[in-house]
Amino acid sequence: MYHPLIGISGSVDKEETQSFIMRSYFKRLTDSGAIPLLLSPDMTPEQVDQCAQQLDGLLLAGGNDVDPALFHEEPIPQLGEVNPIRDRIELLLVPAFLRAEKPILCICRGIQTLNVALGGTLYQDLPSQYTAGALENHSQEPPYSTPTHSVKVAPGTAFALIAQADMLQVNSMHHQAVKDVGPGLTVCARSESGVIEAVEMPGKPFVIGVQWHPERLTDPASLRLFDRFVSVARENRC
Ligand code: MN
Repeated sequence: MYHPLIGISGSVDKEETQSFIMRSYFKRLTDSGAIPLLLSPDMTPEQVDQCAQQLDGLLLAGGNDVDPALFHEEPIPQLGEVNPIRDRIELLLVPAFLRAEKPILCICRGIQTLNVALGGTLYQDLPSQYTAGALENHSQEPPYSTPTHSVKVAPGTAFALIAQADMLQVNSMHHQAVKDVGPGLTVCARSESGVIEAVEMPGKPFVIGVQWHPERLTDPASLRLFDRFVSVARENRC
């Protein structure tokens, strides 16, 4: 059986000396039958385009905050650390993989990057900026394998077919979140208070972003999310 090649955009540390990825992403992709490859954050647009042609899918992993300048806002004091190297490469990777019609799975920071890449905006800091409802705890303590809040799944979405449930229990380690949804994206899950927790791009083979960390969870829906991503990447290739 063919093992799809999945490019991963990982973290760059503050000193800009290391590129790295939590092993849980590697492990879950490998378990689902993929070969994950950590991508260099220093590629040129031409190198990114070749990656999009030759790889079978893209995973945008979790990490630090997205620079609000990228959605035309001034930073608020509660903004966390940003990283221009990572912002630059991910804003090249997303359009390149979309143009190539390759599947993209976006996790935590990944859903935020996807949204900003498509022209959407973020809450720079949920606790201080979210006023639409009584906010759940979205910044849980370890262990991260324990779900901490529920999300309601939007019926009729591609994500609902993967979730196979109206409601999921998810972990939550984010202080930013999607605010205005970027053109082309559809909301497919929200928390009880209404925070956007998952989006997808209708008409694409598999472009899904989740605000939680399914790579740390072991429920059937989390496992299916990776399995489905990898099988779409395989079907596209074969
Ligand atoms: Mn959450």
